[in-house]
Amino acid sequence: MTVVLTMIDGARPDALTTAHCPTLNQLRTSGAYTLKASSVMPSITLPCHMSIFHSVPPTRHGIVSNDWTPMARPLPGLIEQARAAGLRCAFFYNWEPLRNLSRPEQLSLSHFRDNARTEEGDRLVAEEAARYISQEPPDFAFVYFGTVDETGHKYGWMSDQYLGQLEKVDGALALVLDALPADSTVLVQSDHGGHDRSHGTDSTEDMTIPWLIAGPGIRQDYQIEGPVSLLDTAPTLAYVMGVAPHSAWEGRRVEEIFTR
Ligand SMILES: [Zn+2]
Repeated sequence: MTVVLTMIDGARPDALTTAHCPTLNQLRTSGAYTLKASSVMPSITLPCHMSIFHSVPPTRHGIVSNDWTPMARPLPGLIEQARAAGLRCAFFYNWEPLRNLSRPEQLSLSHFRDNARTEEGDRLVAEEAARYISQEPPDFAFVYFGTVDETGHKYGWMSDQYLGQLEKVDGALALVLDALPADSTVLVQSDHGGHDRSHGTDSTEDMTIPWLIAGPGIRQDYQIEGPVSLLDTAPTLAYVMGVAPHSAWEGRRVEEIFTR
């Protein structure tokens, strides 16, 4: 069984329904989803990702900008818990500061390419992830797509260019999904939204994110009713992988997505 967390950086939920996104639409039909999940403050990429992987808000992990510093009070994240359970984890990404999402010597494979500012950058990340996963499926893979956020900063959130880039990423996502073993679980989400040419505020546009999950034992074509926070990602995926959540994690597993 492989679990994949796919991040579409800066994807607003209303973009998923405005742009033509057949892969994401199919994922909604085959899984459980909400278009009203919550980010954390500040709604900035590295603080949000630290919260996604460690299930605590920025006030706890202390990373409040895209400049990483060691945590004052370190706690294990999803990768450390998975590794301690003997699982193999792989990263595929195109924004370099994400190298610090896990401690050293936790990953079985790490593929970084500095191409988030190119239109086809995410496709190259997806191709590499698909190639590796189809040959040697890891227990957990993090696949990060950075081009939609870059396009938002350049042309504006919900601009034609932004929506067009999301459509490209939808195609890249299909490459990854097609490479997965049949019993895989896939979670697709963003870290924050955006407005005008920026994000980072507590506005609804910045703070609302999509959260879609599909796999064995997960309800199909099901719209999640309760609140979901990006803090809930690690506890939910840990549960799917049979890994213990850490006691310091503040998120909760999203119970209502499971059929049993
Ligand atoms: Zn971001």
